[in-house]
Amino acid sequence: MKTYECVIIGAGVAGMTAAIYLKRAGISVLLLEKGVPGGQINKTSIIENYPGFKKIDGPTLAMNMLDQVQSLDIPYQYGNVLSIEVDGDHKIIKTDMETIMTSRIILASGRKPRELGLSNEKKLLGSGISYCAYCDGMLYKNQDVVVIGGGNSALEEALYLADICKTVYIVHRRLEYRADDILVKKIEKYDNIKPCLGQNVIEILEKDNRVSGVRLSDNSILPVTGVFIYIGQIPETSFIEDLITLKDGYVMTNEHLETNIPGIYACGDVIKKELYQISTAIGEGALAGTNVVKSLK
Ligand code: NAP
Repeated sequence: MKTYECVIIGAGVAGMTAAIYLKRAGISVLLLEKGVPGGQINKTSIIENYPGFKKIDGPTLAMNMLDQVQSLDIPYQYGNVLSIEVDGDHKIIKTDMETIMTSRIILASGRKPRELGLSNEKKLLGSGISYCAYCDGMLYKNQDVVVIGGGNSALEEALYLADICKTVYIVHRRLEYRADDILVKKIEKYDNIKPCLGQNVIEILEKDNRVSGVRLSDNSILPVTGVFIYIGQIPETSFIEDLITLKDGYVMTNEHLETNIPGIYACGDVIKKELYQISTAIGEGALAGTNVVKSLK
């Protein structure tokens, strides 16, 4: 069985940062990831509030970080964690590929997009439904699309789509956005962005197994070919819900970023906290990594 001093679950920005701190301190560390390195930032088209880069797209920032991880020879591998068993300092991680032994774990599994919950949403994924404007936007060049949501993600991705698509409707359930003022002001300058505030999407219309429109709560129809859903995110904690203390699905930590289980730490979007940003995730990755080093030495 492979054995490490610390295993990091999730290679998003928090997990990669923790790995860099651990490796530089001489700790044997493994980074496990079930998706792509960088996690959710791969779905972000424009980042303008991460100091050091006036403007950078998410995938480029993720690749820069992975490059740094790889330059340090940090072991990085695929693994979908199914369970964690704890016997004091011995922790057994079972993935869909193998069993791994470690004495410390850092949970950095992040979040995934929240779904609307409409009946044909899953079926039409990839046939008009998307959770990633940056990945799929070009498929809707010169077409009419709708972005659902009123947070920073919805507005940023609506701005990205507005340069590609003919019309970008924004459907938000309240009359005010929940986004930074700078984004709201930018949205107002685009003639082809059409807000539909105080509305919900109640039905996704389809023709020949592709999206053909959406019906709003006032019964009006937007004739769109693409639906981009940005209604928030939910934490990836199903594999630890019997072990770790959670609140609203998020991991609870103390000021050292340690969970209720000694030797298991957490950082990034998976923890319960006030601010979900790249900069905070990186700070927490550094802190969790440093505290694991302290606990091992
Ligand atoms: P969010 O801030 O939680 O916003 C989610 C939006 O979806 C809200 O407007 C919410 O409406 C709406 N919503 C939630 N459930 C819904 C439902 N069932 N039906 C219809 N609408 C629904 O999510 P986010 O935009 O993904 O951002 C997540 C976090 O990352 C936030 O903390 C955000 O600030 C941060 N972030 C920051 C940046 C940046 O700094 N540039 C960029 C992206 C994300 P209500 O407003 O009515 O609740």
